[in-house]
Amino acid sequence: MIERQKTEDRRQRTEDREPMTEDREQRTYQLTKSAQAFAEACKCLPGGVNSPVRAFGGVDIGPVFIAGAKGSKIYDIDGSEYIDYVGSWGPMILGHAHPKVLKAIATAARKGTSFGAPTLAETALAKKIIATLDSIEKVRLVSSGTEAVMTAIRLARGYTKKDLIIKMAGCYHGHSDSLLVAAGSGLAEGARLGDSSLRSASPKQEARRSPAIALSGGVPDSIAQLTVVIGYNDIEAVKAAFQKYKGKIAAVLVEPVAANMGVVPPIDGYLQALRNLCDQNDSLLIFDEVITGFRLALGGAQELFGVKADITCLGKIIGGGLPAAALGGRADIMDMLAPLGPVYQAGTLSGNPLATAAANATLDILFQGDCYQKLESSAALLEAGLADAAKEADIAVTINRVGSIMSCFFTDRTVRNFADVQSTNIKQFKKFFAMMLEKGIYLAPSAYEAMFVSLAHSKADIEKTIEAAKNSFQKIKDEK
Ligand code: PLP
Repeated sequence: MIERQKTEDRRQRTEDREPMTEDREQRTYQLTKSAQAFAEACKCLPGGVNSPVRAFGGVDIGPVFIAGAKGSKIYDIDGSEYIDYVGSWGPMILGHAHPKVLKAIATAARKGTSFGAPTLAETALAKKIIATLDSIEKVRLVSSGTEAVMTAIRLARGYTKKDLIIKMAGCYHGHSDSLLVAAGSGLAEGARLGDSSLRSASPKQEARRSPAIALSGGVPDSIAQLTVVIGYNDIEAVKAAFQKYKGKIAAVLVEPVAANMGVVPPIDGYLQALRNLCDQNDSLLIFDEVITGFRLALGGAQELFGVKADITCLGKIIGGGLPAAALGGRADIMDMLAPLGPVYQAGTLSGNPLATAAANATLDILFQGDCYQKLESSAALLEAGLADAAKEADIAVTINRVGSIMSCFFTDRTVRNFADVQSTNIKQFKKFFAMMLEKGIYLAPSAYEAMFVSLAHSKADIEKTIEAAKNSFQKIKDEK
């Protein structure tokens, strides 16, 4: 146990956002204050959290309450420091509390926090997005990825005058009604919904019974049935769906690199085949690049794989850690939005000055220098180290990595879709997660989420992570 004064000192340092220099290994790892905070939160927040995955339902530990973060590190309220690979689930590509982003937010805040009227900064941000993504001619700024994708499908329906959406099992596109079918991320952790009748069927079952049924309570079947669910990377199934629902498919919606069932890259030719099928059937291709946008390359997955979407959804990184997201696409499609066109969308806080300032500052940094080479080399180093560590301990893992997002699946098989992910050894993942946390490595608390490497992760961070993994894999082996 630590004495009160020591704890107080640590708390003060955390609040000051100074990295802690004290060797945390010297004390017993504990989550005492987090456990108390969670119990308290549960009295007034459903499940103690404001977004389900934060409840740590996918691992056998209560949630870690966060006091602050700086660079690659995150600090909990018990005084522990972790190397953070969650990065707020993707936005923190520069690392936490980047001084230029903080300065931009502070400067904007001094001028007022919301006007509900247009500002120059919104046009500047839109121009940056348009200059970066070839497929985008116009942009609408919104406040969350959910809103961006929800609006994109409304727009696709309005533009094509068709109703059905094709979505891939295990992809997550936010929590709008139409998309809470066969979704990944928090919904993949069926138990967290508390009602076993709502748990996910196997993806094969899901695919067979498309149009889908909802994974969430409160979504009428009549809405869920407008979504046709297909296995990720299964182009034959998409062809079959276009045949079966001829003339009715408004859009194919996909994460071009799936990152909400862990990271699952598209197989060769998959995205191009989706593009071709959409063209042949007068349907729109929507890329949900909420995770991959400005993450895999400046031009996102579209740049990496050379396939253009009709509508692109962006979020996370373009908010620089504040609530901002966007959808963009060809002008003739985007001009269907109100006030020009009949498809309605609006938002009191859309293009919010603080979020827009954080977004502009973040993109300006990403536009400079060799950010993506740096991300690639850090992530490649981590991937190689994890693979070696697992091999040394004789633990079977498959590491899927695209740029700075990756997943370490506990299986010796290739992981190409949601069914493959569900067949991995989740028990081993849970053990690995707990051991890594104790060693000061903060991974996503779910086997269905990605690891995010940021520009703030140093070589020393990566080496420490690999060392912790070596140790953890070995322990898992010994416990077998
Ligand atoms: N689309 C993808 C690919 C996501 O990963 C997420 C969130 O994780 C969303 C959409 C929804 O974004 P938000 O949580 O900002 O509503």
